[in-house]
Amino acid sequence: MKNYDAVIIGAGPAGLNAGLRLISADSPCSILLVDKVAPWERPMPCAEGVGRRGLEEALGEIDPSWIRLVIGKATFYSPDGTGIVHTNANKGYIIDRATMQRDLTDRLKERGVEVVLGVKAVGVSVLGDDGRREVTFDSMESVSARVVIDASGPVSLLGKGEPICWKPYDLEPAYFAVAENVNCDEGSVHIYAGQKVAPGGYAWVFPRGGGAANIGVVIGKGQAKGVNIRNLLSDFLNKHYPKAEIITYFAGSISCGYRRGSIALPGLIKCGDAANAVNPISRAGIAEAFLMGALAGGAAAEMLRAGGVKAMKKICADYEKAWFKKRGGRHLKLARVKGSMVKVPDEDYNNATKALRAVPTDKLSAAKIFGISLRRFPRLAWALRHLM
Ligand SMILES: Cc1cc2nc3c(=O)[nH]c(=O)nc-3n(C[C@H](O)[C@H](O)[C@H](O)COP(=O)(O)OP(=O)(O)OC[C@H]3O[C@@H](n4cnc5c(N)ncnc54)[C@H](O)[C@@H]3O)c2cc1C
Repeated sequence: MKNYDAVIIGAGPAGLNAGLRLISADSPCSILLVDKVAPWERPMPCAEGVGRRGLEEALGEIDPSWIRLVIGKATFYSPDGTGIVHTNANKGYIIDRATMQRDLTDRLKERGVEVVLGVKAVGVSVLGDDGRREVTFDSMESVSARVVIDASGPVSLLGKGEPICWKPYDLEPAYFAVAENVNCDEGSVHIYAGQKVAPGGYAWVFPRGGGAANIGVVIGKGQAKGVNIRNLLSDFLNKHYPKAEIITYFAGSISCGYRRGSIALPGLIKCGDAANAVNPISRAGIAEAFLMGALAGGAAAEMLRAGGVKAMKKICADYEKAWFKKRGGRHLKLARVKGSMVKVPDEDYNNATKALRAVPTDKLSAAKIFGISLRRFPRLAWALRHLM
């Protein structure tokens, strides 16, 4: 059996940034990065929208070739179709994840990381007396590592049986199409709400440039029973973009719940979707995965330097605290808001949107939205109370 200092499972945003952070640590170490596929050779199950600031905070410099479009606005449509535009001075990107992830993998290879694609990890053992964990693959082969970073996305279930978050907390179904001939404002992302449009979730239109767009629907887990998500997308397309030419359809799952709990144990660190890092309301997880990956890589570097389980437990606690401070604390509040928001009737969203349309776009802050809702739409304000 081959031995490594660290094994990273998953060449997505979380795993790649964990690797980059770990390889930048002071002491040299042997790293194996595995993924069950070459992610950039497959259709990316993602709408690829990301805030500029979050991405830069997590990754540093952004290569221009990774950016499909720069986005300055978000347009929200209430159930009756009334739109309000939120201008974001910080801007966002529609990225090309395939190019980005391939480039980042190449960077890791150049810096000595061994990359093996087409290999699925099926198990991670408990920490042995020798201070190592064994990672088993579907080929029945296994390797050992002093630290395993599980960045295998929303449904890997690695770590089951140990006191660590090993499963998704609120796995929501999503279904989307990449389409051409989509007539929409390409300077904005478009979000549509409503119980008929997407119960417990939303529909999105994220332009990709040149008349192409990623158009999809995500629905709440609690609202999914008896709902055919394919029909929802089809109805949405027929209503709003009847001339769209569909290139491909994809299904995916988003783990968008959050609970404060263990995300690391001595020799095993979870990050990204595998640690429920997605924003529960926006369902954005790219910048979050990059950010948590960087924290995980830092924690792994410390574990490799640490002498003994006690020191590693302290590193786990610090990692959890760091994530809670960065995003987890806010995600906890948002998860509660999400639970309340689904109970607000469409009528309130329609009325609140009409009231908010009167506010000049550049003055439409979160405080303004809350203030207006509080005065006129108490059910909506009550749903937002967890943010106070
Ligand atoms: C339809 C859809 C649209 C989305 N749109 C957006 C968006 O616009 N903006 C945004 O910010 N977020 C979006 N998200 C969420 C975002 O895609 C994820 O949060 C993000 O990809 C998480 O990154 P990650 O590295 O944690 O996991 P992933 O990107 O899922 O990477 C995990 C990697 O691990 C590999 N893997 C899995 N299991 C194993 C195994 N057992 N062994 C080896 N390899 C394994 C996978 O092949 C994969 O390459 C969307 C999600 C979906 C489903």
